[in-house]
Amino acid sequence: MIKRRNLLGAMVAAAVGSQAVPFQALAAAGKAQPRSIPWRNWSGSQQCLPTARSAPANVAELQELIASASGTVRAVGAGHSFSPLVPTDGTIVSLSRLSGLIDHDPKTLQATLWAGSRLGDIGQPLETAGQALINMPDIDEQTLAGCLSTATHGTGIGIGCMSTFIEGLQLVDARGELVDCDASNNPELFQAAKVSLGTLGVISQVRLQNVAPYRLRRETVWREFEEIMEIANDMADTHRNFEFFYIPYSGMGFTDTHDLTDEPIGSTEKIDSNDSVEDLKMARDWLEGSPKLRELILSSTVKMLSDEVTVESSWKNYANERNVRFNEMEYHLPREHGLQAMREVREVLEANHPEVFFPIEVRFVKGDDIWLSPFYQRDTCSIAVHRYFEDDFKPYFKSIEPIFRKYNGRPHWGKLNTLTRDDFRKLYPRWNDFAEVRNTMDPKGRFLNPYLAGLF
Ligand SMILES: Cc1cc2nc3c(=O)[nH]c(=O)nc-3n(C[C@H](O)[C@H](O)[C@H](O)COP(=O)(O)OP(=O)(O)OC[C@H]3O[C@@H](n4cnc5c(N)ncnc54)[C@H](O)[C@@H]3O)c2cc1C
Repeated sequence: MIKRRNLLGAMVAAAVGSQAVPFQALAAAGKAQPRSIPWRNWSGSQQCLPTARSAPANVAELQELIASASGTVRAVGAGHSFSPLVPTDGTIVSLSRLSGLIDHDPKTLQATLWAGSRLGDIGQPLETAGQALINMPDIDEQTLAGCLSTATHGTGIGIGCMSTFIEGLQLVDARGELVDCDASNNPELFQAAKVSLGTLGVISQVRLQNVAPYRLRRETVWREFEEIMEIANDMADTHRNFEFFYIPYSGMGFTDTHDLTDEPIGSTEKIDSNDSVEDLKMARDWLEGSPKLRELILSSTVKMLSDEVTVESSWKNYANERNVRFNEMEYHLPREHGLQAMREVREVLEANHPEVFFPIEVRFVKGDDIWLSPFYQRDTCSIAVHRYFEDDFKPYFKSIEPIFRKYNGRPHWGKLNTLTRDDFRKLYPRWNDFAEVRNTMDPKGRFLNPYLAGLF
């Protein structure tokens, strides 16, 4: 196995000569916190100075908080959204103390969980209960409520976003009242609440449809860009989970598949993906002015890397650690336009943005029928572009967004975009239905910060 970091460093040299304030800290105190505690998201691009931050210890405290708070109330999960969903000068409420498995049914394989549970904390309890999440995103730091509220997704053209796993929800509404909903009880609210950006109320519990525990074989294979373009559609149809990454200015990328297996647990030697991103940054820093040389060095380095295989329990085999912070824009495009859009993204990037080094991520997600889901009534190909958190993301994202919009893409609710209310109304056939339910649930707009007030 080649030590990629040393190799790349040597080749480049020869050629040219960070976080949100953790709520756990506040949870100990339990009560609303004084004005002096600012909030910021994971990447640091969203910040605010709320009047109060609170982490209720139980549902009664949550109800009391919402009923008595003056001004706007915004729920926060793990602060891993890039879009301005959370910032407020009112109250920020975290469900970090309402976490864990509440109940499960071995017959239906459904489980009720506290909405503040982090994905990474529920895999083991679910496995012990004989269940597992159907799919997961590429990290497991987020909370359940945060994921469901923004239609967070993994990859797999036969699998919907996480909100499609919801069988029932419990919310605390704008008056502090508990409301339950599912397909037969409050069905309109249920349909709206599955993806609702924290604008209908604070979700306290969720009931999820799970599956029996399963083991996945993950395989990562390095390939040339053109090969990936040729095989991507077939691979998406053949594998349970398929995605690919393209490394800017390299002509190279890798495919990543997950398939069900009975093979024994084990792994080949793995590359540290955070080291890899640091390597790409180094290549950018040293070779920004020489794209040809950059491509030569990156492609020759990548071609010497070994493929990887990991067999593990599903919940340990989806997530990566993302320690190098970034800002992100991701759009969900009709599947049939995804690969053409990817080609255009690469062209625009490599013609104009030598400052960019983060890989582009491409995933596939099954369509659904949830009113505010970006996957509403269409199978999608999702393309995500990233910029290092210290760099200005605007020029790059401004170049790429028109490509996504040309193909009628819908942005990920938790990621950066420049769309307005009129744009969203055109993209979402059930927008008005959602807005109607929203007005009924929250007639005074208590759950709207300035960004969301602009949308609804
Ligand atoms: C490193 C990284 C990797 C990521 N990978 C993926 C990925 O693979 N796939 C993907 O789709 N997305 C991904 N995302 C985006 C992320 O999954 C979403 O933005 C998600 O919403 C973040 O969850 P959170 O718990 O941090 O919620 P937050 O960002 O804190 O909040 C998101 C929304 O949920 C609402 N909310 C939170 N809790 C509640 C509640 N109890 N009741 C009502 N509303 C609530 C908030 O008000 C807000 O509107 C990634 C983000 C990062 C930073």
